[in-house]
Amino acid sequence: MTHEIKYIKRDSGIPISGLDFIGIIDRGTNIIEIKPITICNLKCKYCFVKCGGYISNFIIDPYYLLEKVKEIANYKGNYDLEVHIAPYGEILLYKDLFLLLDSLWNIKGIEKISMQTNGLLLNKENIKKLKKSNLTRINISLNTFNKKLAEYLTKCKDYDIESLLDNINQLLKSKINVLIAPVWFPSQNDEDIEEIIKYIINLRNKGFSDKKIQIGIQKYLVYKTGRKLKKIQPKSWGYFYKQLAHLENKYSIKLKLGPKDFGIHERSLLKLEISQGDIFPIEIVSNGRWKNECIGKINEEFSTKILLNNPLEFSESYVGKHLKVKVLKSSSNDNIITTYTPY
Ligand code: SF4
Repeated sequence: MTHEIKYIKRDSGIPISGLDFIGIIDRGTNIIEIKPITICNLKCKYCFVKCGGYISNFIIDPYYLLEKVKEIANYKGNYDLEVHIAPYGEILLYKDLFLLLDSLWNIKGIEKISMQTNGLLLNKENIKKLKKSNLTRINISLNTFNKKLAEYLTKCKDYDIESLLDNINQLLKSKINVLIAPVWFPSQNDEDIEEIIKYIINLRNKGFSDKKIQIGIQKYLVYKTGRKLKKIQPKSWGYFYKQLAHLENKYSIKLKLGPKDFGIHERSLLKLEISQGDIFPIEIVSNGRWKNECIGKINEEFSTKILLNNPLEFSESYVGKHLKVKVLKSSSNDNIITTYTPY
C-alpha cells in the first residue's frame, strides 16, 4: 500500500546525487542519468527494483533537477552531453516532463535527450508534445507482441498492444528515434524476441534507418531485492552474448550494442571519495521507499540510501538525527553510495 508521495524541492534539504532510486546518477561518462519519479503504472513480475509497490514514492521538482543537471554539465564540460531520463518508475506519469525537456535544452552542452518508458501511457497528445520538445530518442520496453504474455509479465489486466504499436508508428513518423528494448526471459519469450527482431528488420526494409529504429535486447537480471519470474532461470552473461551472436548470424542484424553505438564516452565523474566499509557521519533527512530504508545527507551535494537493519524501521522521529553509517556499496564507476546501520 502506498502511504505517501514525497515531493523533493530545493528547500527540502535532500541532496539528489548519491541515491540509486531517485535524482541524478553520474557514471563517469557524457551521459547524465536522471530519475525524477518513482511512481509506475505497472507492477511487472520481473521488475528488479520492485516498482509499483513502494510504501512511499518520490517526485523531484523539475527546477531542482535542472539546477543540478546544469552543475554537473558544467563540471563535465559543456559539450556532447546526453541526458538520459530513466526512472525507477514511469516517466509519462511525471507531470512536469515537458517543462523539464524544454528547459534541459537550455543547458549548454546538452546535445541529446533520451528517455525510457514502458510505452503504455503514450497517446496522440503526449507524442505531439514529445515531438515539440525535440526528444532525441525514446526507449520502449516491449517484451512480446503476445497480449496474454505481456499481461502476464507486466501484471496488467488490459495490455493494449495494438495501441502501443500504433503509437510506435506515430513516433517513427517524427524526428524521434525509437529503441525497442525487450527483456529476454529464457524459455519464456524466446520466440517473441525473434518476432521483435523480424519487426525491426521489416521496418528497416521499409526505409527506416538503423538509427531511427533500434533494438536493444536486455538480459533478465535477478536481484535478491527485486521481483522474480517463477520458474525462469536467469542465464550467465556468456550464454546471453552467445545467444545474441547466434541471432545476429541468423538475421544479419547487429544486436550486441556497446557504449560506442550510443556515442557514450568517458568524462569526469563527480563523486565522493568513499569506499566500501568506510564509516562516516550523516544526518537523516527523509524516509525511503520502504520501511527499512531512509535517506541520509552526507553534505550539501550528496545523499546516501541507508538500509536500516533489523529490527530498525523508519520513523519520522529519526529525521534530523545525526549518526554514523557504514558503506555497503560504493563503486569507482558511479556516484551511488549505499550504506547501512546499525553496523
Ligand atoms: S519494470 Fe519498468 S514498467 Fe515494470 S514495474 Fe518496473 S519500472 Fe515499472
